[in-house]
Amino acid sequence: MTTMGSRRDFLEKLSISAISLPILYSPAQLFAASIEPYEGPVLRVAIMGLGSYGTRVAKAMESCKRAKLVGLISGTPSKVVDWRAKYGIPEKNCYNYSNFDAIKNNPDIDAVYVITPNGLHKDQVIRVAKAGKHVICEKPMGINAKEGQEMVDACKAANVKLLVGYRMHFEPKTVEVIKMRKNGEFGELKFFQGLSGFVIGDPTQWRLNKELAGGGAMMDIGIYSINGARYMLGEEPIWVTAQETKTDPVKFKEGVDETIQFQMGFPSGAVASCLSTYAMRHLDRFFLSGEKGFVEMKPSTGYGPIEGKTHKGELTQPHITHQTLQMDGMAQLIFEGVQPIVPVDGEEGLKDLKIIDAIYKAVKTGKKVDL
Ligand code: NDP
Repeated sequence: MTTMGSRRDFLEKLSISAISLPILYSPAQLFAASIEPYEGPVLRVAIMGLGSYGTRVAKAMESCKRAKLVGLISGTPSKVVDWRAKYGIPEKNCYNYSNFDAIKNNPDIDAVYVITPNGLHKDQVIRVAKAGKHVICEKPMGINAKEGQEMVDACKAANVKLLVGYRMHFEPKTVEVIKMRKNGEFGELKFFQGLSGFVIGDPTQWRLNKELAGGGAMMDIGIYSINGARYMLGEEPIWVTAQETKTDPVKFKEGVDETIQFQMGFPSGAVASCLSTYAMRHLDRFFLSGEKGFVEMKPSTGYGPIEGKTHKGELTQPHITHQTLQMDGMAQLIFEGVQPIVPVDGEEGLKDLKIIDAIYKAVKTGKKVDL
């Protein structure tokens, strides 16, 4: 998502961003935790794909306590030179896409974070797993459920963790809302609305290439509404319906969706109505309605600060760089088995891919698709 803002709030400027526990809320708790010295294990991470999001993750990791950038995998030697200088990375921890299987013999790297175009994730993740390293993979985990299943199976066979870059699962306001939902504070949930979109620029970018992107807006941004519907409602959908509109068939070629509206039905009877688009601005909003209360979040999944309110008032949890929390949280998960409030594992990534497959099928057939 190239259009997200990256403002930092007051707390972040105070270096509170070193905080690592994903489900701490109050500023006092956060402050106390951030000044505690940390002497436990540090997850030594290599980033694969030094693009725009990889750059953001690397910067955020500078504030991590439990995770550290120690290696690079890139197809662009000039970037490797720059990043090595910036992050003090030794040459022996740098690889390209042809030789990175040799990471197997590198005892100084624990995990690889795959931040390349979606269509490359599956093969790259499986190669990393075969090299015996834990894998963190960006969303969407793959480009369909078949790929996702192969990835899950390969990581299981290699006995390595597969985690997906679901940064919102560590974001304090989102976590607070999920806690409230778990505590029944919204009563019986009836309806979720997710609006996810932005206007995409350069028509030559990989995001508009079916092979590399796996689709269009749904793969890139619509997935936030899918994942959000699931964590906000706390259920798995049992059916989907979907309708596609395309105003620019030159820019959005066959297989690259511009705008899809979709609906999901849940076992409790709750329904979700969502919009995924590469052609409209100001779409980053979640709304949840229950019998006893509501939540409105806008922005809901951008880089933050996330803003929102419930029937009880404003959400006031502090903004902390999402990727810092995510990487510290993932290190804690790997080393200590501490789970975030909503999973970030391969099975979680696979659930979203199954829903995306069903949405594309519903668009094609015009029919309700059962999950
Ligand atoms: P970019 O195009 O900015 O970067 C992708 C990088 O992948 C490139 O710079 C390149 O790095 C590498 N790469 C390898 N092969 C190719 C290829 N054939 N074409 C283009 N690049 C290639 O993309 P983003 O960083 O924005 O997105 C990467 C992934 O991160 C996607 O899966 C996306 O969905 C996800 N993402 C997640 C976000 C989140 O908030 N969780 C936000 C933004 C993106 P090099 O030159 O080093 O080889």
